[in-house]
Amino acid sequence: MRIDFLTLFPDMCEAVMSESIIGRARKKGAIEVHCHQIRDFAYDKHKRVDDAPFGGGKGMLLMAEPIALCIDNLIEELGEKPHLVYMSPQGKTLTQQRVRELAEYPNLALLCGHYEGIDERIIDQYVDEEISIGDYVVTGGELPALVLADAVCRMIDGVLSGAECYQEESHFHSILEYPQYTRPAVWRGIKIPEELVTGHHENVRKWRRQQSLIRTALKRPELLEAADLTEEDYKFLSDFQEKLKNMGDKKAEIE
Ligand code: SAM
Repeated sequence: MRIDFLTLFPDMCEAVMSESIIGRARKKGAIEVHCHQIRDFAYDKHKRVDDAPFGGGKGMLLMAEPIALCIDNLIEELGEKPHLVYMSPQGKTLTQQRVRELAEYPNLALLCGHYEGIDERIIDQYVDEEISIGDYVVTGGELPALVLADAVCRMIDGVLSGAECYQEESHFHSILEYPQYTRPAVWRGIKIPEELVTGHHENVRKWRRQQSLIRTALKRPELLEAADLTEEDYKFLSDFQEKLKNMGDKKAEIE
């Protein structure tokens, strides 16, 4: 898979995409990443890429033409139009499900806005979808694009050591991951759960599944609606909810 960043800050994207797991994946050719400077496509001698919005108001907007030339240049280089995402707080919120779908595109281009954003005509003419990383506004599209790119790269063969690395993680199956511990088994007097040291694989699997269900029910109950639950899971959750209710009733009696 190839990912292209279209940005005013290519060094920022390049730096993050060169580190750690993603950097190593690039070196071994599992993914290809390119960062393009929109300013290189400015057509005046001052290399200007922004201007004031029509109608007045504070802030500046990225002009259409330098962005359009940058995209056209990429299309020419690729020989086809990539799936073009504009990072925007007005887009659909990114989810693990959408990340998995985006990982299927051979060419993904991420357009990063800045200042007040970009001229709307670019969105109308070129953009395939707008994606947000959450209902808040950050200064530029680079951090959101990096979040998206990192999440997508993890889905690509050869980036992590195997599919089980991401399939067991939070959100892949719409439940949260179980608690994890490493050495020492006793830290500041706190022991790890006994189930993890028995060496009994089936017991460990069962404990982890139950812990995942408990923490999803407590922290993000709405996720369970989309989770693929077994009869055993439903039974466990309903017993757990019953226990919680009884504890609540007892507490109310004491008070
Ligand atoms: N004026 C825009 C609005 O109110 O919708 C916000 C512009 S923001 C300051 C500048 C750029 O940051 C945007 O063009 C977009 O690329 C990026 N951005 C900001 N917040 C974002 C978010 N939550 N998700 C994705 N991109 C975001």
